[in-house]
Amino acid sequence: MAWGSDRARETVRRLQADITAGRWPVNGRIPTEAELAAELGVGRSTIREAIRSLAHLGLLEPAPGRGTFVRSLSPVRDVLSDFAAEHTWSDILAVRRALEVQAAELAADRADPETLERLRAAHQADLDHEAGTERGRAPGQFHALLVELSGNRLLAELYAGLGAAIRDGLSRGAIEPGEDEKGRQSDHAALLAAIAAGNAQAAATLAATHAARDLRVRAQPEG
Ligand SMILES: [Zn+2]
Repeated sequence: MAWGSDRARETVRRLQADITAGRWPVNGRIPTEAELAAELGVGRSTIREAIRSLAHLGLLEPAPGRGTFVRSLSPVRDVLSDFAAEHTWSDILAVRRALEVQAAELAADRADPETLERLRAAHQADLDHEAGTERGRAPGQFHALLVELSGNRLLAELYAGLGAAIRDGLSRGAIEPGEDEKGRQSDHAALLAAIAAGNAQAAATLAATHAARDLRVRAQPEG
């Protein structure tokens, strides 16, 4: 119905304006569906629909059980469709790996204590959450923060575009987690330790190993 769609579009527009204006930082959590529904005077289903649209644009990423996080302050839709249409998934994952390695190296060189603390907290939250509700969950917060720690904005923008394409690939089953949650968390712990120690070479090596195994192209079923 047109009335409902108008309301949904207006909700998307208002939330997108808030995100673009920097109301929440990149990697920050936005208010809950209920809070946003009250604030904007719409139903929770309208908020949910708006969040889905904004996730598709690469601005937001819902993390089940944890809330919804800002991933980019501007839409990466064009980048997303370009990536997905023009490149193979294995090429996309290879570029992601290159960015992760560079980010880890830079992060180890220049990590500031505050961001480092946030990376530790994200890792701890993953460990606390491990109890089972999110097995096979896409890697998200830890990697996004790692890229933020690099302090390189261009790298972060490229990564946001790639991240949106990868989430799309995960949701369509074109790529899949290649490692169980325990392996993932032990990789993250080692990477975090190397970054905290300022060991750029070790951080780069660990990031390369980890990125190569935490996501993979899903094998296509035979004919
Ligand atoms: Zn990971």
